[in-house]
Amino acid sequence: MKITFRQSWINNFLRCPEQARQERLGLVKQKETSDLLRGNAVHHAIEMAGTSPIVKVNPPQLLDWVDEYIAENAHAVEEWRHSYEKIVDVCRANILVWHDEVWPQLGVPRAVERTFKKKIGKRKGVELWLSGTADWEDESGELWDWKNPSRFYEPWEKRRWDIQSHAYCWALGAEKFNLAVFANGQYQHIPIQRNEADLKAFIDLCWSIVPLITAEVEPWPMNWTGWHCSPKWCPVWQDGKCRGKHLGQGKPESW
Ligand code: SF4
Repeated sequence: MKITFRQSWINNFLRCPEQARQERLGLVKQKETSDLLRGNAVHHAIEMAGTSPIVKVNPPQLLDWVDEYIAENAHAVEEWRHSYEKIVDVCRANILVWHDEVWPQLGVPRAVERTFKKKIGKRKGVELWLSGTADWEDESGELWDWKNPSRFYEPWEKRRWDIQSHAYCWALGAEKFNLAVFANGQYQHIPIQRNEADLKAFIDLCWSIVPLITAEVEPWPMNWTGWHCSPKWCPVWQDGKCRGKHLGQGKPESW
């Protein structure tokens, strides 16, 4: 049996195994939201900058790429959490802060939006693989990932348990992973270092998920505790299954 994990799916699994099971089987799907559009528009402009034959990418060019992306992809949004105008304003502010504060630190990229698929190993007839897409692999060997949340992160939390930095450092042979966080036009840099012990722990974590997958049981354990278990964030709930079967999709005023 061959099993491939995307690192984002491992995150989903750790939040709620049952939600991850239903997503894996294609029973439910996350909604296209304006949050996703915001992140994708900024990613797109940075990708264009990283692969552009134009030597000097200037702010008006970056703003054009952001605006074009939003205009072309806004129709796919199923849930607007912020207005169209607000998304445009934040994306524009974020790409400018990337240009002013991050771009000068970067060298020529070795790769931009590089997709990888790497074999973790084989145990008891199960071949395990890891896949993902790295936003920016710098010429120094450091990895960069762009985040566009609505607020900054707690750096110590990311250093302690962030999955993506483990996954990408392991897959691409890097030690240094940088989270570049853009929130409402402000920049937060979280450098993370992953050593051999971190990566071994990550591989153990990947294998720990396999017995549940191969057991072919359902449902998988449900995890109610956290922001993810709500009609706003969980596609299983939204679909009227699991807690949504009993509690419905409405969002009580007190939430
Ligand atoms: S409703 Fe809660 S427990 Fe059920 S799948 Fe969603 S996150 Fe998991």
